[in-house]
Order: sequence, then C-alpha cells, then structure tokens
Amino acid sequence: MKVPLPPAPGNSEHPCLALANSIVTLPGGQRVDELNSPENATAWLVAHELAPEGTGLLAYCQLQLTDLRGHLREVLESHTKGVAPDAKSLKGINRALIAVPSAAPLRYDPSEGFSRVPSHPMTQLVDHAMAKITEDAASLLTGPDAHRLAQCASTPCDRFLLRTHSRRQWCSERCGARQRANRAYARKHDKASVE
Ligand SMILES: [Zn+2]
Repeated sequence: MKVPLPPAPGNSEHPCLALANSIVTLPGGQRVDELNSPENATAWLVAHELAPEGTGLLAYCQLQLTDLRGHLREVLESHTKGVAPDAKSLKGINRALIAVPSAAPLRYDPSEGFSRVPSHPMTQLVDHAMAKITEDAASLLTGPDAHRLAQCASTPCDRFLLRTHSRRQWCSERCGARQRANRAYARKHDKASVE
C-alpha cells in the first residue's frame, strides 16, 4: 500500500528517511505500511532503486527490512530529541552497515574453469540494499545536515524530514495546515474555558 502523502522533505535524497517513512500514521490514527508483504517490500526496493527489476523478496527478507526500519526510526527519533539511542537499535544498524558480503566467491569447475557466483543472490540483494540505507543514515547523522533532521510535529504523524528552514517542523503542507488548525482550536478552547 502506498503512503497517501507526498514524500517528506529529504526523502528522495536519503534512502534512510525513505525507509523510516515507509510506515506512517494518518490523521485518523490509521497506520499505512508500505512494506506489509514480501511483494510490497520488493516493489518498495525497486521503486527506490535499491534492487533491480525482477527481484522477488522472501518473507525473511521483508522481516529484515522492517526490523531495520524499527532500529532506524528509534535512532533517528532519539537524535531529534537529543537523547542517547537505544543500544540494541544502534547494534541493528551497525549489523546491516557491515554485513555486506564481499564480492562473489571464486569457483573452479574442471569443465567450465573459473566463475563467480553469489551463494544466496536474493539475501545478498537485501543485504546490499540495507548496507546502502545504513551507510546513508550513518553519513547523515555524522554530517553537516544532522541538525536539520526533524520529526513531523503534526500529531499523530511521525514522519522524519530534513528541515528546509528552521521553522518548518512538518512533513507536508497537509500536516502543516492540520497543525495550524489544531493550534487555533486549542487557543479558542483555552479562551472559552477562562471566560
Ligand atoms: Zn506529517
């Protein structure tokens, strides 16, 4: 299922934000998960150019990807709150960051000679995609844009974004409008209860 919102600022440049935002909570509280089946997880990877067309993920690979997303969201959220990340999540990210299998092993067959065949092509594809995503997260969190990372302030939306200017704290125009309306309502309500 596609998230019915335009991509959050920074999403298209940063695969780590795209993965973190592949699950959203809509205003009504409904959760939309773009990775809710192996087929949808495959489509997501292909759409984000993290896997070639024709890839077919297994349930195991889908689970790895959603696990990584959980870790990523935890670490991004603690960064935006200025608190220490959960050690388990940091470990999960590092596992993906360094798990990339080295190049396909060299084989020798007496009739065919040397060849190189990856042992588990599908798992390796996912490992590579996750390495790319975590590499992006690691450089974003240690780079000059780290302070621009924010989480949408328009509850219940919890998408991550890269702030384009310091005041913008929401992921989309729709969230911004809802936040302004909520504020106006709260102000009116406060006034009413005082009178
Ligand atoms: Zn939002």
